[in-house]
Amino acid sequence: MFTIDKPLPAVTEDGAPYWEATRRHQLCVQRCERCGHLRFPPAVLCPKCLATEHRWVALSGRGRIFSFIVVHRPQHPAFFADAPYNVAIVELDEGPRLHANVVGCANADLRIGLPVEVVFEKIDDEITLPKFRPCAA
Ligand code: ZN
Repeated sequence: MFTIDKPLPAVTEDGAPYWEATRRHQLCVQRCERCGHLRFPPAVLCPKCLATEHRWVALSGRGRIFSFIVVHRPQHPAFFADAPYNVAIVELDEGPRLHANVVGCANADLRIGLPVEVVFEKIDDEITLPKFRPCAA
């Protein structure tokens, strides 16, 4: 029996500060210095006003499930053993949406609008993945 490593996010120059933050267990995004738009995923230009100036800001890590799927037939063999697993789009309280797994919750209990908070799973020295769990009351 052999195992296949799961593919990991590619850390780009623009996105490196995001991954540095997840290693510190912080969820950070770019805030446009010109218009204030919170940019996610990281980008060279603000999609609202095209400014390049930005700074990284930490978010609350809290949000709600905007949408989700439950994968029963993974397309990549590295995920076969995990099925069925979920992939959610979480809308953070500050507005940005990101894809992540929801943990600590049976797939059958997932629902749109469920309040969630970020947790972090260290994969290796470079990648710590943000995941979400239902908020404790
Ligand atoms: Zn802007």
